[in-house]
Amino acid sequence: MRTPPVTFPMNIGVLALQGDFEAHQRALEELGVKAFQVRSQADFERADALVMPGGESTTMLRILDEEKLEEPLLALAKAGKPILATCAGVILLARETRSPSQRCFGLLDVAVVRNGYGRQLDSSIRRLEPAPAAAGRLGSEPIECVFIRAPIICEAGPAVATLLADGDTPVLVEQGPILGITFHPELTSDRRIHQLFVDKVKASLQ
Ligand code: GLN
Repeated sequence: MRTPPVTFPMNIGVLALQGDFEAHQRALEELGVKAFQVRSQADFERADALVMPGGESTTMLRILDEEKLEEPLLALAKAGKPILATCAGVILLARETRSPSQRCFGLLDVAVVRNGYGRQLDSSIRRLEPAPAAAGRLGSEPIECVFIRAPIICEAGPAVATLLADGDTPVLVEQGPILGITFHPELTSDRRIHQLFVDKVKASLQ
């Protein structure tokens, strides 16, 4: 799906400690947004918004701790800057992480079960229709969702809106400036979800 390039200037940072950050950077660049890699406190400070990629949440947590980057991340969130978190990113932002349980930041009011689809469904591709409430922003065409050792969102608080679900399981949620996605929109050519994020960033800067 072709979308016109964004001409509005914005600095979107992509957390680049580990995982799938380059694919997110390319996805944003396809939309005309110059995204930069975030690895230091100064990078966090100049970001208008942040992408937290998929990967291995335990490793990301360890590196955030070692590099003393947890505070800058929390400061960015506290400032209300938009965050797009995919897969391991959702695990880090959740209020509770189970199976195994792990420290998380409590920025997104969801509980997640890591690797919740189990081994036999380690990875899968599903075509899912946006929830009616999201049709104005995502359209009604199904979205191809690539799940890779994905977490399952098993509880979501009242402030969390589901934009896309797989049966009863939310797979794309929104809570204020945060989008949490348990699959990998950066791995397909459909840019609707990154465009939704770019629109949120743009609105936050106006
Ligand atoms: N299962 C991984 C974790 O627990 C997440 C997988 C992913 O990000 N694709 O961190």
